[in-house]
Amino acid sequence: MSTPALMPVYPRCGVRPVRGEGVYLYGEDGTEYLDFAAGIAVNALGHGHPHLVKAIADQAATLMHVSNLYGSPQGEALAQRIVDNSFADTVFFTNSGAEAIECAIKTARRFHHANGNPQRHTLITFNNAFHGRTLGAISATNQAKMRDGFEPLLPGFAYAPFNDLDAALALIDNSTAGFLVETVQGEGGVSVGTEAFIKGLRQACDEHGLLLVLDEVQCGYGRTGRMWAYEHHGITPDIMAVAKGIGGGFPLGACLATAEAAKGMVFGTHGSTYGGNPLAMAAGQAVLDVMLESGFLEHVETIGQRLRQALEQMIPNHDALFEEVRGSGLMLGLKLKPGNEPRAFVAHLRDNHQLLTVAAGENVVRILPPLVIDESHVAQAIERLSEGARTFAGPSDD
Ligand SMILES: *Cc1c(COP(=O)(O)O)cnc(C)c1O
Repeated sequence: MSTPALMPVYPRCGVRPVRGEGVYLYGEDGTEYLDFAAGIAVNALGHGHPHLVKAIADQAATLMHVSNLYGSPQGEALAQRIVDNSFADTVFFTNSGAEAIECAIKTARRFHHANGNPQRHTLITFNNAFHGRTLGAISATNQAKMRDGFEPLLPGFAYAPFNDLDAALALIDNSTAGFLVETVQGEGGVSVGTEAFIKGLRQACDEHGLLLVLDEVQCGYGRTGRMWAYEHHGITPDIMAVAKGIGGGFPLGACLATAEAAKGMVFGTHGSTYGGNPLAMAAGQAVLDVMLESGFLEHVETIGQRLRQALEQMIPNHDALFEEVRGSGLMLGLKLKPGNEPRAFVAHLRDNHQLLTVAAGENVVRILPPLVIDESHVAQAIERLSEGARTFAGPSDD
């Protein structure tokens, strides 16, 4: 058997998009899809947003890349804007979520090293977590499907059940550096961290001199109807990884930190050839131009509530298939009843009803539309979902 030129690590489906416009994607054969996957929470402004497209085109013609050895007016400006709109004092730009997590892990370890406590190197992380696919990031989850065959992994992680504060606190010992946690778990099944859990972790950090490291790669950047998901809990982290929505489709990520938490990240401790280049910074600025406009986040909250209500009204009509609606803002999940395979339902919606969604853990179908959807897209999605549910024969028939 010959190996495909594109390394076959993804089970790619028959949809082969070649063009996008707003909330719609178009396949090679011209088929139109309603895109409620948004590149897995990446295309926050939808496809081909004119402001983002123009910013990238203009910057590409002006200056695409220079080394981080030179001064970066573009990087300073975007970092300052993120600082002005978050808990953070300082920002490191990356090209992906996993790289933002790597920087977050390094920053946490280096903080304790700088404090003279290098033995405090263990981050407590959580079952079902997803932090990306680098060796560091797969070491930070206990999901076997991502780790198997890649050992030896990075030491320095301990795992507790998500939303189980007592279990997390019970793992604290002399080697603990802090907690690494998704404020809302995405890939794991769209599980919202409870207020008691997230606040409890913050409090434990304050009591024990630990760092709260949030992974908001998926749930940050407006996805939950707030700029950052931590805002729902009235707390702030010490370090946070973001990506996905930050570039609206341009590869960009960032590690945010307070001045105190970042105290170990001095000259020479970290770097990236591409990270924060002028083209990426232009994309990041354009996304923020739109997202920080007054009313944008309120729109996400309102339309997220509408979508959720509509889903909640729909599911009793198909009660053999759907168990519950979960999530926050426009990061929603439809949990299927046992015996129904989310991947099969996602494929059915895609192939027979031209609706794109994403499968997740815990038998959940993720619904992650662009943040710019309106009522008509909600209505169309609900129509396709109910029609899809009606025609879905279930696991024995896919
Ligand atoms: C997608 C994701 C990552 C990894 O991002 P990449 O850009 O794929 O490296 C990390 N954490 C969370 C929560 C994610 O959803």
